[in-house]
Amino acid sequence: MRFMHIRTRFAPSPTGFIHLGNLRSALYPWAFARHNKGDFILRIEDTDLERSSQEAVDVIIEGMAWLGLDLDEGPIYQMQRIDRYREVVKQMLDSGLAYPCYMSEEELNKLRDQQMASKEKPRYNGLWRPEPGKTLPPVPEGVSPVIRFKNPIGGSVIWNDAVKGQIEISNDELDDLVIARPDGTPTYNFCVVIDDMDMNITHVIRGDDHVNNTPRQINIMRALGGSPPVYAHLPTVLNDAGEKMSKRNGAMSVRDYQRAGYLPDAILNYLARLGWSHGDAEVFTKEQFVNWFDLESLGRSPAQHNPEKLLWLNHQYIQNSDPVKLAAATKPFAHEIGMDTEAGPDFVQVVSLLKDRANTLIEIAEGAKLFYLPAPNLTADQIKENIAEAVMPALKDLVEAISTAEPTKEAYAAVFKQILAKYQIKMPALAMPVRYALFATTQTPAIDSVLVVLGKEEAVKRLSKVVR
Ligand code: GLU
Repeated sequence: MRFMHIRTRFAPSPTGFIHLGNLRSALYPWAFARHNKGDFILRIEDTDLERSSQEAVDVIIEGMAWLGLDLDEGPIYQMQRIDRYREVVKQMLDSGLAYPCYMSEEELNKLRDQQMASKEKPRYNGLWRPEPGKTLPPVPEGVSPVIRFKNPIGGSVIWNDAVKGQIEISNDELDDLVIARPDGTPTYNFCVVIDDMDMNITHVIRGDDHVNNTPRQINIMRALGGSPPVYAHLPTVLNDAGEKMSKRNGAMSVRDYQRAGYLPDAILNYLARLGWSHGDAEVFTKEQFVNWFDLESLGRSPAQHNPEKLLWLNHQYIQNSDPVKLAAATKPFAHEIGMDTEAGPDFVQVVSLLKDRANTLIEIAEGAKLFYLPAPNLTADQIKENIAEAVMPALKDLVEAISTAEPTKEAYAAVFKQILAKYQIKMPALAMPVRYALFATTQTPAIDSVLVVLGKEEAVKRLSKVVR
């Protein structure tokens, strides 16, 4: 096989909301490029001036950077390439690949109504299309024409879609596409073709809402002497209710996930599996994903978003994270809820203690709070209510034993065991009052670990206050 330098692109229209499904369309071309040691390009399709915004571009770029989808080229903005598109329109006019069409909006509407009435598919009728021996209508005065591409007549466009298999569309179904508007601005499908050609894109991996554009794009590309790339049209991503994902029905943006305490690697792993699989692998590293990624294993049916699975994956990633890195990632969330992570035990230790049970970074931060609040100032009544008189002797012994024990989880566990045996009581009977004495709550992680993290001195100080 001929050596091919793979070049893929993500070509979002920055028209607002970017949900997870949108970013999946970035992930797959990125992975395909990385797998093949090729190039990945970001192209911003911003020619719809009314709907495009810099804010949306920023969200896309930030989201990609957060997930670690690095670029080889770009962002390339289509608005900065307008001259190039105009140049090609002119070439196409000069070489007879395109022609001016003076049909007015009204005439087009009328034509459409007639076609609909006779149950035909609405399409431009080629009135202004030059053909040998054909006389065109007189050019109306003062009307700026649109420019139409001379679509081939007869035959069909066939391509082997890497996801959907062979697709064949008859040219009779395609009318002559408008490639430039009366004011000279190029149209969407046209810009895509010129860009994919100029950027030497070898594989177009995109959402299947573009399948209908593909035969038109292929025809234009061929007319210009290009050879079409491989197309892989990805089935949509449905939300958990089975509807098309959108902001209106509650989809979260990438930023929302970031703010909700998800780890980028967990999101990447999740997105990877949303329409692609490698055996039954569910949790894998980014490197594994890149090594394994191929177009053959892309799913053919719509993928469905599953928030519980995403949360589960996030938990897996948190649990397996290096505590130092996890602590660094959690800190901003801790600060957000007003914690001073310097005013208490070592934050890395606290995070290590909490990570096995947390689903999000916010949960870790919330759990960590306990260790950074001032020691509780319990009233006599509170103590009486929460720490039974009967447990006092055991508690007293415990405090003494702790003060002389090794400051390790194992040593503290042994102390507990010994006191429970001596007083013939069960763990909760002793651990709950201890927790209450330490934090004024009974909700804490395992008590022996808590004592280690809080520190012996501080723990003994707090416990001594309630012992009578
Ligand atoms: N700009 C298009 C979109 O946001 C993608 C076009 C393409 O990938 O060819 O849906």
